[in-house]
Amino acid sequence: MDKQRDFVLRTIEERGIKFVRLWFTDVVGTLKSVAIAPAEVESAFIEGLGFDGSAIEGLTRSFESDLLAFPDPATFQILPWRAGIDPTARMFCDITTPDGQPAVADPRNVLKRMLEKAADKGFTFYTHPEIEFYLLKSSEYGPNGPEPVDQAGYFDNVPGGTAHDFRRESVRMLEDLGISVEFSHHEAGHGQNEIDLRYADALATADNIMTFRTVVKEVAISQGVYATFMPKPMSNQPGSGMHTHLSLFEGDQNAFYEPGAQYRLSKTGRQFIAGLLTHAPEITAVTNQFVNSYKRLWGGGEAPSFVCWGHNNRSALVRVPMYKPNKGQSSRVEYRGIDSASNPYLSFALLLAAGLKGIEEGYELPPEAEDNVWQLTDSERRALGFNPLPASLDHAIAAMESSELVAETLGEQVFNYSILNKREEWKGYRAEVTPFELKHNLGIL
Ligand code: GLU
Ligand code: MG
Ligand code: MG
Repeated sequence: MDKQRDFVLRTIEERGIKFVRLWFTDVVGTLKSVAIAPAEVESAFIEGLGFDGSAIEGLTRSFESDLLAFPDPATFQILPWRAGIDPTARMFCDITTPDGQPAVADPRNVLKRMLEKAADKGFTFYTHPEIEFYLLKSSEYGPNGPEPVDQAGYFDNVPGGTAHDFRRESVRMLEDLGISVEFSHHEAGHGQNEIDLRYADALATADNIMTFRTVVKEVAISQGVYATFMPKPMSNQPGSGMHTHLSLFEGDQNAFYEPGAQYRLSKTGRQFIAGLLTHAPEITAVTNQFVNSYKRLWGGGEAPSFVCWGHNNRSALVRVPMYKPNKGQSSRVEYRGIDSASNPYLSFALLLAAGLKGIEEGYELPPEAEDNVWQLTDSERRALGFNPLPASLDHAIAAMESSELVAETLGEQVFNYSILNKREEWKGYRAEVTPFELKHNLGIL
């Protein structure tokens, strides 16, 4: 029995843990959980826990439904919101087929495969997400849409407000779970908040994002409010992005850092950005996977709509943030397209694939966007080569369908499943008569 497993078994005993939840994620990015008794943990490590994969979105085809979940002991944590009564812990799982092969459609495995490819080239991939979400009075809504908990805005300090207590409690719980928070603040929208996690390797970050969503939902319930990661819950308020800072390390050297270069960004960093820009339209159906995601991308509120990069330019899709001289080799790039409802495992795998492609092929970085690209005219943007991101889920699926990079990174099964699933969503949406149409047509036509 290896050391980590030993530690888990000992902690279960010492802390009187009553239930251990085994967590994994489906292709859409929904967290799945099965609770086992402490006595079952040892055999789960060795034999795995069997379950019906065909009942989980995208995980298997029904004729090969048996799957096994193997808990990863490195992810063992006691859940702070269950600490008092019946102490409960959780571990993330890797999914395999009955003959022990990693399940091709396990999103965690998709990311692991991509991280191995990067490791073969000598790179470790680090990410750090800025997660935005809304606090609403309830998940119920009337004719005016959802009701946010406050009317505050960016960086507002709201004495006695829900958001303040909410953030304090969430940050405390995240820290209890071993997830370091860099900072948290009220965002621009009414009831909108942001919590930024400290950078970590991409697999740990993706696991942390899944935990984060659960923590935020739990804290909201305990405070009598409702938290949502929906990309754009209100048309007149900004959407919720999950801007993610990306960097590659070679050993303990930041491969994006070059003293003396423009923005201290190395050639590797420039090629990585060029890769992100070239492949951005193809990966958008994954980083922005819902019909509603495109309401954020095209609804203003500082969400990026055009494919370009810039330094400290918030209208750009990729931003090279301000360099902090006291922060050592902190060169990194911020991808602003991705939203808070994406599957972090699949999205990170694709961002890495796109960036690495840029390095492999030696893509040339186009000139940076110096203006506010939203304020340029269409022809000015065309002349500068700033193409639009997909205008809708329909366009995004079309761009993904012809992408070798996405097919190769996700693997055939996840790729085909995602396209089918997204087409269904689009078909359903296309057939809806929306409040917009009623407002614009019914009284006149
Ligand atoms: N909420 C904006 C978005 O949807 C981002 C605001 C910010 O720059 O933090 O991307
Ligand atoms: Mg923000
Ligand atoms: Mg940002």
